[in-house]
Amino acid sequence: MDRLSSPSATKRIVEKHGFKFSKSLGQNFLIDSNVVDNIVEGANIGPEDFVIEVGPGIGTLTREIAKRAKKVIAVEIDKSLIPILENTLSDLENVELINEDILKMDVKKVIDEKLEGKRVKLIANLPYYITTPIVMRFIEEEIPVSSIVVMIQKEVADRMNAVPSTKDYGSLSVAVQYYCETEIVTNVPKTVFIPQPKVDSTVIRLDVLENPKIKVVDKKLFFKVVKGAFSKRRKTILNCLGSYDMGVSKEDIKRILESAGIDPVRRGETLSIDEFARLSNEFYKFIR
Ligand code: SAM
Repeated sequence: MDRLSSPSATKRIVEKHGFKFSKSLGQNFLIDSNVVDNIVEGANIGPEDFVIEVGPGIGTLTREIAKRAKKVIAVEIDKSLIPILENTLSDLENVELINEDILKMDVKKVIDEKLEGKRVKLIANLPYYITTPIVMRFIEEEIPVSSIVVMIQKEVADRMNAVPSTKDYGSLSVAVQYYCETEIVTNVPKTVFIPQPKVDSTVIRLDVLENPKIKVVDKKLFFKVVKGAFSKRRKTILNCLGSYDMGVSKEDIKRILESAGIDPVRRGETLSIDEFARLSNEFYKFIR
């Protein structure tokens, strides 16, 4: 079967099946082979890999993933796409379709039952408003996943990938980088989809660490400190944490900052993840 990633092949399939695009399900299909290849190459898929693809659409990426992977589970919410996918993927024996909402699917169970409980690679091109929650769910709930390749708005990818003291650096950067190494795979212009969306996108890869690279004594407290530190931009870390609900007086926060070796007049957005870890560990010592 020919590649699906040309405008004519995609239009032919859509028309043949009388498919109607749903805006609320974020249905914009890729029609550029180079972009498809960049995404699949960026995902580093090898013959031993188990992949979960969320939102296969008409199967454009799915076909290229399946050619490289051991097995692909494709999770598609829209039941009107299932007969299309059965058709476009009919010659590939290593793809299994699941007609479900990824937000409701018991992913761990699917991995246990269908993918031998092995660590999977996740690939998703989804409506943007659910992408960040899904990424956070996969990394926070300890789902066995080794990497995540997602297409998201450029601004969100830049935030996930940001380093300290830049305008994009914030609690999302720390939350993602606590669990993962991040790498921008490619930028994707809006012109390579039908129908054309309003904004350009970026594909980012998150390599999930088996163990976080920093040691925090209390993960909840760590994320509370991070949230507090970013609660007011361009204010000192002392002022941010002092007016955040940390349950400690401002004088004590000053002492905690000093014992963590962090100057209280620095701004929250200049702290590295290591420094946040050190700070939250000092908080922990003080509170206990
Ligand atoms: N992967 C295809 C491509 O790149 O051409 C299609 C991507 S399209 C942007 C998003 C796809 O995600 C659609 O097929 C849509 O029906 C599906 N989708 C949307 N919400 C979903 C959900 N909650 N669970 C599973 N699939 C979903």
